[in-house]
Amino acid sequence: MFIFNDKDSLEAFLNPLINQKKTIGFVPTMGALHEGHQSLIKRSVAENEITVISIFVNPTQFNNTEDLEKYPRTLDQDIDKVKEINDLILIYAPTVEDIYGKSPIAEHFNFDGLELQMEGKQRPGHFDGVGTIIKKLFATVKPTRAYFGEKDFQQLQIIKKLVSKEKLPVKIVGCPIHRASSGLAMSSRNERLSADAKEKAAFIYKVLQEAKEQFQQRSAKEVIDFVYTTFEKEPEFELEYFEIADEETLLSCIEKDPHKKYRGFITAFIENIRLIDNIALY
Ligand code: AMP
Repeated sequence: MFIFNDKDSLEAFLNPLINQKKTIGFVPTMGALHEGHQSLIKRSVAENEITVISIFVNPTQFNNTEDLEKYPRTLDQDIDKVKEINDLILIYAPTVEDIYGKSPIAEHFNFDGLELQMEGKQRPGHFDGVGTIIKKLFATVKPTRAYFGEKDFQQLQIIKKLVSKEKLPVKIVGCPIHRASSGLAMSSRNERLSADAKEKAAFIYKVLQEAKEQFQQRSAKEVIDFVYTTFEKEPEFELEYFEIADEETLLSCIEKDPHKKYRGFITAFIENIRLIDNIALY
């Protein structure tokens, strides 16, 4: 297993391979790996000669100190999960100092308004932190392709925007949401749920599926009302938002445009844990 804790040693290892024009697939993560992450890693292994995965809980993308402190850190188990796939994968698990030096500060980005919707409204500064870490990681790893989950669909669109605005030489590959058999989208945060809440949380995806069905006949407003009313009947959940938005611009759907592709985006709390999910409505 190849594990690097600092960018100098990772670069020293990668540079000769880059000179030999090897293809490098990159999967950035915050660790607490699960089958969702593994699906991205497997895709990278299938499509590239070398795969690098980063494990780094990035402080600049957290706007809530408690969330940052409680974020699960399970490096030894993560290494085992990577080994299950193969032991030639490179793991980059840097310290905060290796990435940021003395003070973790985010760069400020303009993502043409993508950063102002949904998660951007709820978590001010979050996407500056995401843009900062991904730009830094791309500069070190110099990937041919980088893999991101549709689970964080807004993030995926923002990374594509970052790459096109900064003209970065990397192809961004979006990967489908990996779900538990109950339908619950896999997430590192699920580990903080009780067994009971984990079971109940499958409700989020059930409502999304129902919303999708309704959206074929009904207006966006009717579907949104349906989702809010449904959640009101479930006191264990607190619905933060449900929005129907255009996949490209992430702007809310007011009137359906047959040329646009829409998605339903949801964020809900159960047991104080914030879960996000989304579904294509076409
Ligand atoms: P995270 O460690 O939560 O920052 O996630 C790292 C990458 O894995 C991101 O691109 C996520 O979108 C992706 N990811 C997380 N959960 C899933 C999932 N259930 N299915 C597919 N991709 C996922």
